[in-house]
Amino acid sequence: MQTLISASNYFGIELNGRQLEQYSLYHDELISWNRKLNLTSIISPAEIELKHFADSLSVLAVLEPETLQGKPEVIDIGTGAGFPGIPLKIALPHINLTLVDSTQKKMFFVEHIVQKLKLENVTVLAGRAEELAHKPLYRERFHLVFSRAVAKLPSLAELSLPFCAINGLFVAWKKGDISAEVESAGHSLNVLGARLKCVIPVTFPGLDDGRFLVITNKVSSTPPKYPRRPGTPLKNPL
Ligand code: SAH
Repeated sequence: MQTLISASNYFGIELNGRQLEQYSLYHDELISWNRKLNLTSIISPAEIELKHFADSLSVLAVLEPETLQGKPEVIDIGTGAGFPGIPLKIALPHINLTLVDSTQKKMFFVEHIVQKLKLENVTVLAGRAEELAHKPLYRERFHLVFSRAVAKLPSLAELSLPFCAINGLFVAWKKGDISAEVESAGHSLNVLGARLKCVIPVTFPGLDDGRFLVITNKVSSTPPKYPRRPGTPLKNPL
């Protein structure tokens, strides 16, 4: 776990023995369940450590310490096998975490990991963001909304921003040449009540292959009609 230890130090956090054990268990379960469920194409131990665990933690380098004070409500949209939500919950045990994915079998795995790692204050929701975001319990409730590798920004913003509280942050993990994508999201962000704050490159060695965190501020309430019905945000982006 040397890479993960170096990466977490680089991103400004020190992991203790219990946390390293939790990552190690998560790693073992991911490999074992991946034989039956198609959870991830990244299966070498070194890659899991770097491209799943360390990559999930990269946001720690850019969040202001006040953002993480108290018991922040954090949601991960399209978490898949738990990324970035679960690695972040291991590193920050005090957060209240909600994990959302529309694929039931992935959420069985995620539920299993939450129990196996004895993670507290984690809610696992199998469902579509387009539907869950209209439930009063979840709407505009979260201080931090995270999403990695789910959809292009104009669509992803519609799936994610309705969950974000005013003054909260929405962070999208992105890879590749994203300047056109970011530009094309301007209208969507505007309609949904958000402003682009910054685009931060990830610089940790090994993750310096064109990864960016796109950070937006929620400045006003999202109109109630968003997100539109399931499938529409992807098919017909704002
Ligand atoms: N965030 C994870 C998984 C990315 S794959 C990672 O970085 O490894 C994209 C995931 O988003 C899939 O698991 C898919 O089921 C989920 N997803 C796609 N559209 C969704 C929607 N509308 N609502 C909820 N989950 C969605």
